[in-house]
Amino acid sequence: MNVILLGAPGAGKGTQAEIISSCFHIPVVSTGNMLREAVKDGTPLGLKAKSFMDAGDLVPDAVLVGMIQERLQQSDCKNGFILDGFPRTVPQAEALDNMGVKIDHVLEIHVPDERIVERMSGRRVCEKCGASYHIQYRPPAQSGVCDVDGGKLVQRVDDAPETVKVRLGVYHKQTEPLKDYYAKQKKLSIVEGQEKIVDTTHLTLQALEG
Ligand code: AMP
Ligand code: ZN
Repeated sequence: MNVILLGAPGAGKGTQAEIISSCFHIPVVSTGNMLREAVKDGTPLGLKAKSFMDAGDLVPDAVLVGMIQERLQQSDCKNGFILDGFPRTVPQAEALDNMGVKIDHVLEIHVPDERIVERMSGRRVCEKCGASYHIQYRPPAQSGVCDVDGGKLVQRVDDAPETVKVRLGVYHKQTEPLKDYYAKQKKLSIVEGQEKIVDTTHLTLQALEG
């Protein structure tokens, strides 16, 4: 089962992706996490991506397409995968089609802009594994510490309110056209993001099974 999750920054894609991943035993492929890892390790890719990411802009398509092509060829993706944060532009979606990758479901998790900025202020991510938490909606067992690996939970630089506004603008302009793209392929379902994570998960699983 090959799934794409769409949604504005902070809509809950990462959280739902991790839950679907453990239900269906398929990996999450998060381009944001891969890029943050590259930035942390100071690789050439990371050096190239950092300024775009810090500004809330998209990293150029060519960089992402090469990165994702390599990742999807790895053996853990052979029974399926969940794409979180890719594709983000129509050219990226076309590149995926041209690679011969078959997509079964595209889910948009929809959350209105007004609620996004408020959600982002409480978001924390694990420095080590990238798992996401929320101080109110998804607190870790121990404050500031990742449940999975004990990594330190930090705020993302690009979660600052001004950068969130830029990222929302980028989402509406460059990523939302993908809804039409996948609706035409009859693959799109829209899930309304709920206050409680379990309620969103319920709707998400329903959409995947429907
Ligand atoms: P995310 O963790 O998905 O919010 O991604 C964080 C940042 O990484 C984005 O704001 C972009 O700068 C960059 N990024 C992640 N995925 C992509 C993509 N598919 N295309 C371009 N830039 C991306
Ligand atoms: Zn962790």
